[in-house]
Amino acid sequence: VTSFAGKTLALFGLGGSGLATALALKEGGARVVACDDNPAKMAEANAKGIETADLRDADWSRFSSLILSPGVPLTHPEPHWSAKLAREAGIEIIGDIELFCRERARIAPNAPFVAITGTNGKSTTTALIAHILREAGRDVQMGGNIGTAILSLEPPSDGRIHVIECSSFQIDLAPSLAPTIGVHLNLSPDHIDRHGTMENYAAIKERLVAKAGLAVIGVDDPMSRAIAERCEAGGVNVARVSIEPLGVKGIFADEDTLVGVTETDMAAVANLSGIGSLRGAHNAQNAAAAVAVALALNVSPESIRSGLHTFPGLPHRMEEVGRIGAALFINDSKATNADSTEKALKSFDGILWILGGKAKEGGIEPLRSYFPRIRKAYLIGAAADEFAATLGGDVPHVHCGTLDKAVEQAAADAAAMDGPAVVLLSPACASYDQFPNYEVRGNHFRDLVRALPGIEAKGA
Ligand code: ADP
Repeated sequence: VTSFAGKTLALFGLGGSGLATALALKEGGARVVACDDNPAKMAEANAKGIETADLRDADWSRFSSLILSPGVPLTHPEPHWSAKLAREAGIEIIGDIELFCRERARIAPNAPFVAITGTNGKSTTTALIAHILREAGRDVQMGGNIGTAILSLEPPSDGRIHVIECSSFQIDLAPSLAPTIGVHLNLSPDHIDRHGTMENYAAIKERLVAKAGLAVIGVDDPMSRAIAERCEAGGVNVARVSIEPLGVKGIFADEDTLVGVTETDMAAVANLSGIGSLRGAHNAQNAAAAVAVALALNVSPESIRSGLHTFPGLPHRMEEVGRIGAALFINDSKATNADSTEKALKSFDGILWILGGKAKEGGIEPLRSYFPRIRKAYLIGAAADEFAATLGGDVPHVHCGTLDKAVEQAAADAAAMDGPAVVLLSPACASYDQFPNYEVRGNHFRDLVRALPGIEAKGA
């Protein structure tokens, strides 16, 4: 980024995106003084040529802005010390998305910029939009909260489309965010601890669509519907997205069929049946949003259909790992709470369910209505006893202890059973009693499944 050449900026938070931001600013001729509460991160940045200092003692009057990492509290539970010092000095507090927006406004204001937010489905929708556009031959840069930090991507230019996932924290730090197309998928209580109230959380999400050229808004929860109504009342061009029939402009899912509605017309655009990477009503919402974006960017319905069919899906989100005969193996390790696991239980039947780990409040009690879909449960990790009590006499279950044992037993049971079976790792738990994170847990599951005799691995 060259828009900040000659300026001196303070930067706090040297995680992945903070480091990328510092490097991009420096390369563009800005002076960056970076800081982190973790001395190891400071040393790492220093080794990469970034100037570091303890900003508690700094003269803040020489900084034009504080660049804050999205992981650092801006307001709740209370502002981080760097945010307090910046406010006292009267300096703006912004993030990397804001830097991108200012750079784009200066060097390529017409470059297409698609920004995606929502409580759930951001990464899937972002990846799907990027995939459809790439398959249609477009020049796409994808990143932000997913994958590559926004300032490590190629810069905006007229023929190039930036497809950027934005968390609420990133939106909060991007006052001039005004994407060509803004996508807001849904809202449910999450991160409220960091945003104070649900109203504040919703208001932050609303900012992404309120200034968009086209606002694609999922209207299946009341707060998101209210956002769509306020945008429409404010004159924003809105395409609504729903898994219920729509009477207004947008895309809705009628079972597996995605139907496009315009002022004058209603027509089927694509069908999701048989697309393994987009199973379930939640993915119908994600796919409908992606289709609305692709249509707005003039991708032909034929290309859109082809992009949907070739979408590989994201790892650890109802990821198809392979089959042995009539048994399908699914890695849903990203499901770290009951809400997420519910999406998977809704999407399959005849389930051999591997679950457990470090339980969240409420456990699996909210999933009771799906118990009839479960043939047997395989319990792992610290939550085993608690979950066994909830399953009680309703679902046959075994204590396996480890994921290794659970996969072995579930595979053996599947082989002995008649009819189709789905061996599903959807733990409804955090992983850190047995694994560093959900990715390591999911990768281990995939490795175990791929080592089973007779496996036809998918994407191996
Ligand atoms: P995010 O990036 O917002 O965390 P992901 O695309 O990574 O979302 O999906 C994470 C999990 O959220 C999925 O495994 C699934 O359980 C759930 N999910 C995905 N899309 C949706 C949706 N549109 N609505 C509700 N839940 C969803």
